[in-house]
Order: sequence, then structure tokens, then C-alpha cells
Amino acid sequence: MKACLLNAPARIETNPLQFTDVPAPSPDHGEVLVRVYACGVCRTDLHVIEGELAPRKLPVIPGHQVVGLVEKQGDGAGRFPIGSRVGVAWLHHADGTCEYCRTGEENLCDNPTFTGHSVDGGYAEYIVAPEDFVYAIPEGFSDEQAAPLLCAGIIGFRSLRLSGIKPDGRLGFYGFGAAAHVAIQVARHWNVTVYASTRDARHQKLALELGAAWAGGTFDAPPEKLDAAIVFAPAGEIVPAALAMLRKGGVLVLGGIHMSPIPSFSYDLLYEERMIRSVANNTRKDGEDFLRVAAEIPIRMHTQVYPLSDANRALNALKNDGISGAAVLRVTG
Ligand SMILES: [Zn+2]
Ligand SMILES: [Zn+2]
Repeated sequence: MKACLLNAPARIETNPLQFTDVPAPSPDHGEVLVRVYACGVCRTDLHVIEGELAPRKLPVIPGHQVVGLVEKQGDGAGRFPIGSRVGVAWLHHADGTCEYCRTGEENLCDNPTFTGHSVDGGYAEYIVAPEDFVYAIPEGFSDEQAAPLLCAGIIGFRSLRLSGIKPDGRLGFYGFGAAAHVAIQVARHWNVTVYASTRDARHQKLALELGAAWAGGTFDAPPEKLDAAIVFAPAGEIVPAALAMLRKGGVLVLGGIHMSPIPSFSYDLLYEERMIRSVANNTRKDGEDFLRVAAEIPIRMHTQVYPLSDANRALNALKNDGISGAAVLRVTG
């Protein structure tokens, strides 16, 4: 099969993904083989490729927002009939036995595997995944529309949940990439007022189009104090700036898997019961709940589609604020 292979972490400017032929995988016990149609491009892929996340498997095929059709069932697999349209997301598997899994926090599992990081991902014509960790994709979304729902969408949704934002609340977004452009649609659906702080003028424009009450630069003060804010950009210097915009008791959620160092800041910024918390992965329930909500709203994805062979180009564009909405690789069809 055709795949984009990472042999060793390197800066994306060096175009480290090799578009090549590799053997197609075959499904193990409880797994399905999925013919990939589209795979979303996520900032986490960039962190994997550039080595900001320590490699867990090399060479590795990145990609964890995978939409395709079940082509084959491994022994014991029968949840999805052949031909079902399914999605494969970041959490490839959790052990189900650790203290976190047993208490409904499988996103924090002690022994997880991650798609496109510890096992091969969806920048390829085929992928295998445990059927228990695969999602049914709602009708009404094309493959390209559905792919970014699987990480940008789900993580944005979990970030919203952890922010504790309530209807009629005031919510700040820092960074306005793929996750934010989905999360704002959910937030607006909940009648939340959104303020978008982002350095890129095109992203500010998209935020306003999607219903933001205000859009400005990363360090510009929104017109009102915020009940909560979500930092999507991987830049630690945003944390004190965003804290300064929170009302007393406000919540700051850090939505990324990686962030540059956070500068020290005065305790005054945190005092008065403000909170900071990160988001790590997601549970299957987050994914299932989000996909239901996404179909109800329905979410409209802004996508920029690239052929699989152009994954390096898509990732370079992502790194340079060149993507409006979400980048998606068209793999088959
Ligand atoms: Zn576990
Ligand atoms: Zn992701």
C-alpha cells in the first residue's frame, strides 16, 4: 500500500515524510482492517514528526483522524459489518484494567497506545484498529468533513466540557485552528459568547464568520472578563496572558498535548480561585457524545484538502498558519 512514513523525527521544513510502498497490515484478534478514504492533519502529527513527543515507534505512519470503510474483520471481530464507514482516533487502545480505566478515565490510562504514534496511523491506504475503539461515522458528513471531527472535534469538545462553561457564559479561545473552529460551533449552539484571540488575521476573520463576538491578536484584551478560556495554541507565553483575562474563579483549559515552557508569573494571576488544567486524550464516551452533537448541530468543517502524497506540504502549511479550518489528506477515491 501507499503510505507516508516517518523514519526519524526531523523539522517539517526538511519534508521528512517519505511517500512510499509498505506492506498493508492485517487485522489481529478483535481488530478491523479499514480502507482509508481521508485522514485529518493534526498539530499532534507535527509534534510527533518533529520529535516534541518522544518517539514510541520508528519508522511510523502518522495520522489519527482516519475515516474509511471496514474491509476485513479479524478473529472475534463483528461489531462493524464489512463496508461500514468508521473512524479511527488518537486513543488506539486502553488496557481497561488500570485504576483510571476502571473509573471511567480511560483517557488517562497507564498503558495506552496512540494511533500514528505508538502504532501506525492513517497517512496510508489501510489501517488496523481494535473494533472496540473505532467510531461509527454519522451520515451527513463527507469523508473529508468527518475526518477532523475525530481529534480536532473531540478534543475541542472535551476542552469545552472541562472549561465548565455554561449557557450565556463568556469563553475565550487562544489560537484558532482546527479544534477551535469546531469548538466555537458547539459553544455557539450552547449560546456561549466566544472571544477569539489569535495572531493570524485570516483566523480572526474565520472566528468572526463562525459567530465570535470579538476577535483580536493573541495578547489583545477581550472587551469583557472571561468565565473560562481554552488555549489551543502550543505557546506557553499565552498562559499568563490568558489568566489575566479570567474573572475570579475562572477556568483556564490547556487543550494541547505539547506546549513551549510557561513563563513564571505572579500568584495574583492565579489567586481568587482561578484554575488551570490540561486536557489529555479523550474517552470513547467523549467521542461518541461529540459525534452525536456534531451531527445534531450540524458542524460545518472548513477544510483544505491535499492528496496523501502531499502530506509534507499540508504539515508545512499547518506550521505556518497557512490552514484555515482543518487540513485533510484525501487518501482514496
Ligand atoms: Zn488503563
Ligand atoms: Zn490530534
